[in-house]
Amino acid sequence: MNKAEKVYELLKIDYPDAKCGLNYETPFQLLISTMLSAQTTDKSVNNVTEELYKEYPDLESFLTLSQEEIEEKIKKIGIYKNKAKNIYNTLRELKERFKGEVPRTMEELMSLPGVGRKTASVVLVEAFNIPAFPVDTHIFRVTRRIGIAKGSTADKVSDEMMKKLPKYKWHLMHHLLITHGRSICTAKSPKCEKCSLITLCNYGKKMVRNI
Ligand code: SF4
Repeated sequence: MNKAEKVYELLKIDYPDAKCGLNYETPFQLLISTMLSAQTTDKSVNNVTEELYKEYPDLESFLTLSQEEIEEKIKKIGIYKNKAKNIYNTLRELKERFKGEVPRTMEELMSLPGVGRKTASVVLVEAFNIPAFPVDTHIFRVTRRIGIAKGSTADKVSDEMMKKLPKYKWHLMHHLLITHGRSICTAKSPKCEKCSLITLCNYGKKMVRNI
């Protein structure tokens, strides 16, 4: 068992309920929520989408909104002007190029305005159960601290993790690492003394030596 798999097994015990933090009911809603989630918390996104999806649950209803109206509805979320512009343009691309459906390939998803590899991977794995390994800020930090990834970008870390774990573990590992990054291995003050990974983790072992 390699180190990444050992981390997977330990975190699975720590977080038996790890799952996607965004609330959604359809692939379309997940795409919109994931686009909204850049540089903000899932909680803030859910607060906004709870009302938004009641009134505008699908592509057709979203298409009735102007870019300014989308801005108004999502303005409690960070970088909302840019997000509103990308969502406005993405809605039209979905209608015109994809017959109103959310596409199911990485290439097609990434051809949508403002949709990068992370957002595309989230949609593939969450909405369609197609294996992918989205890397967000938590996963980038936690994997590099532990030493199971070294890549200098999220895409490189994603490639490394996909090589180290069998496909069927990618989805859950993604949620386990995010949950761990939010609760224990936080950006500013990781709680190494409480962490089940301390004997495996490069950063944690250094911390123990320095105490
Ligand atoms: S030992 Fe510390 S740095 Fe390593 S994963 Fe745990 S909390 Fe993060």
